[in-house]
Amino acid sequence: MKVFDKLSNFQKFLNKNYTNKTIGCVPTMGALHEGHLSLIIQAINENDIVVVSIFINPTQFNNNTDLLSYPKTLKADLTLLKQVGCDIVLTPSAQEMYPKGQVSETFNFGGLALEMEGKFRPGHFDGVGTVVKRLFEIIKPTKAYFGEKDYQQLCVIKKMVKLFKLPVHIVPCPIFREPNGLAMSSRNERLSAEQRNEASLIYKCLQKTKINFKKQNFKKLNEEVKEVFKSHPFFKLEYFIIADTQSLKTAKKIETNKEYRAFIAVYAGQVRLIDNIAM
Ligand code: AMP
Repeated sequence: MKVFDKLSNFQKFLNKNYTNKTIGCVPTMGALHEGHLSLIIQAINENDIVVVSIFINPTQFNNNTDLLSYPKTLKADLTLLKQVGCDIVLTPSAQEMYPKGQVSETFNFGGLALEMEGKFRPGHFDGVGTVVKRLFEIIKPTKAYFGEKDYQQLCVIKKMVKLFKLPVHIVPCPIFREPNGLAMSSRNERLSAEQRNEASLIYKCLQKTKINFKKQNFKKLNEEVKEVFKSHPFFKLEYFIIADTQSLKTAKKIETNKEYRAFIAVYAGQVRLIDNIAM
């Protein structure tokens, strides 16, 4: 496995050794867990070579505490990547990624970035779009893998690929969960054992919404989730919404020919957790 922190060295290596090969790309911010590995293994199975990037992208954080406390476990990450058979790892510095300074491009994601995460994390998706576009320009992947855990991000990336007619196929990957149902996340490391255990509640709410989706109206489904988190000792609900999977706009009732997902964001102390489920 080759590790590059200098992007020009990576590009030279790629041009010398891997012309006309299919390249799978998995962008990450490190602190790798089985959720990331499921994407990487799928990429290994579907491409000649796989490039994983590890870069904590400052421009997608709107909260400095969140950025500074983001877990960094490079040594352990590289061990895991070697074990699963990853070919190339990119670990660029912010200077390498943003030689002209850390500024985001502004995108028109057609309203997709204004909902949910976009509302609560202003500028987040411009930051994501900027870094992923740059990674695609450097890596030139045939396929790029993104988790449904960050469903809105997946929609935004697909939109960006369309907008710029980028020659890459975006592959959505299912959400990988801990045994208690909590969606795996690098941020889970920052939870206490008790919080981590109790956080199964988030998935339980989503599952209950799914079960009752056709039996109850959306208002009632919303109220039930709010009730669960009201005065909860560990968790504070930031949002819970049911949205149609095309526009990501909050839906009020079921309409024909539309598909829906329920989305949730919850604070456990300082740690922000997100999850979603198909209805
Ligand atoms: P991150 O390092 O959090 O930026 O995540 C890198 C990629 O892994 C993104 O495409 C995420 O959606 C995906 N990912 C993170 N956690 C999970 C999970 N539990 N299941 C599936 N994909 C995930």
